[in-house]
Amino acid sequence: MMNIIFLGPPGAGKGTQSQIVSQRLSIPQISTGDMLRAAVSQKTPTGLKAKAYMDAGELVPDEIIIDLVRERVDEDDCRNGFILDGFPRTVAQARALGQLRPIHAVINLDVPDEVLVKRLSGRRVCPVCGAPYHVDRLKGATTCQVDGTPLVQRADDRAETVLSRLKVYHEKTAPLVAYYEEQGLLRSIGGGLSLEEISEEILKTLEAMA
Ligand code: AMP
Repeated sequence: MMNIIFLGPPGAGKGTQSQIVSQRLSIPQISTGDMLRAAVSQKTPTGLKAKAYMDAGELVPDEIIIDLVRERVDEDDCRNGFILDGFPRTVAQARALGQLRPIHAVINLDVPDEVLVKRLSGRRVCPVCGAPYHVDRLKGATTCQVDGTPLVQRADDRAETVLSRLKVYHEKTAPLVAYYEEQGLLRSIGGGLSLEEISEEILKTLEAMA
């Protein structure tokens, strides 16, 4: 049983890597970004509150997101562990999470800002299943390999918003690196590795921590 956090700036590959690890370990991936985007498209009360923050590349208020995660980790499929992708993003969220569940490992995907800007602006996603792609790897394909849905660019992946998301990351989320390092839970991975090599590195790291 392992409760895992994927930490890292937007575009570091948290979504891609957490989906791979989720399949390998048979534990759910919980993406707060995907949950919020679903709430926005269904126009739920949470979605209506979150939309303006998301469109601006700002963080949604802690109370909203903590409530969402509290309900999600209570679900049955989280009994044998879970992977949090995109949560926590502030020290207040990390403290709240610490009260909810024990955390066993924090994987920090470390990627320089120049690379992130290129990745985010070339990113395309499946609006149905959330699978992420990059134009450089799509070789002209325009639909999701999983379910055939036409891929889209997220509104907040446009160049103007990408810079404000990186700024928010450095101000609000980067302090979590030290927070989890102090707890002895942080393992940083990144720099010059391929997508497949990073997955292997993460799985090896998690095995050693289990
Ligand atoms: P993501 O897909 O993880 O990049 O999230 C997209 C957007 O959803 C972010 O830019 C925030 O506006 C919002 N969001 C997702 N997760 C959180 C979180 N843990 N705390 C606050 N806002 C969040």
